[in-house]
Amino acid sequence: MGFASFIGNPKVVERLRQKLRENHFPQSLIFAGPEGVGKRTFALMVAKALNCTNAGPADFCDECSQCRKINSGTHPDVFTITVEEEATQIKIAQIRRVLEVLGMQPLEGQNKVFIIEPANLMNEGSANALLKGLEEPPDNSFFILLAVNVHELLLTIRSRCQVYHFSPLSFEEVRRHGVSDELAVRWSQGSIGKALNFDIATVKEQRDVVLEFIETAVHAKDETLREMLNASAELSRTRQDFSGYLGVMAVLLGDILYISEGKTDRVINIDIRQRLDSVAQAAPTERWIRVAEFLRVMESSLKGHINKQMLTDAMALVTAEISNDISTKSR
Ligand SMILES: [Zn+2]
Repeated sequence: MGFASFIGNPKVVERLRQKLRENHFPQSLIFAGPEGVGKRTFALMVAKALNCTNAGPADFCDECSQCRKINSGTHPDVFTITVEEEATQIKIAQIRRVLEVLGMQPLEGQNKVFIIEPANLMNEGSANALLKGLEEPPDNSFFILLAVNVHELLLTIRSRCQVYHFSPLSFEEVRRHGVSDELAVRWSQGSIGKALNFDIATVKEQRDVVLEFIETAVHAKDETLREMLNASAELSRTRQDFSGYLGVMAVLLGDILYISEGKTDRVINIDIRQRLDSVAQAAPTERWIRVAEFLRVMESSLKGHINKQMLTDAMALVTAEISNDISTKSR
């Protein structure tokens, strides 16, 4: 096993392993990147490498008692600090406990590792308390902060840590995690977490509603205006998870644009490829770009109290041929 079993982000992995080999591992680190790309797994691998009694300095065996205890979450020198049950933030008391342990010698291993996740959920008091620890940690202590977006952390925290960015996995890397459903692979956005929890039935259902709407709108003529507005009304009535539908629409429009631009290897919804092909052909690329831009406007307007059907009506008009006629006539 060891680091070779980690899938994705080979450059980040290699840079950090090099630091382990040189015995120069940074004591305060931030792993930043989307959910489900392996930040926590990799942090635990580092904790194993820093404590393993079998493997060389830049690896771990997964079999010695140190490795096994870290795997089972029972190693007394490896701590995961996270939001406690029924709390919404990492509390200052939790960080104070870290600072107490920091001054002590490791109980069983060679090194203490503190994994803070998600680091952006430390409140201001906790973050300020942590600064003391990050300032001059003892040689045998390491902090690894996990965050989706590094900019959500206080500047004072960031400036004391080395930041490593983890990227979404490629389709191929998601497959190597054992995800066999091709639709799950492609909808995962490179997150193994999303791929494993992919809800095919719900996505297919939403996809049908959205695609029907796009099809009706793109083929609409002046005389079928009513039909188009009916489709719009239907979409806007999906009151539960409207933003979920917009997310599905974003993926479908992405596919339509890929097809339109000939980048067909990137298409996500390969199982409905023919339907997407004929939709893509129904309008020029420029119009699909406009529709995609309009979707972004819709997504940002959702935060306010806005009439959803007004949005979908406008979306339909941008997609429809009529909107083209209108814009041509007004020129
Ligand atoms: Zn080991």
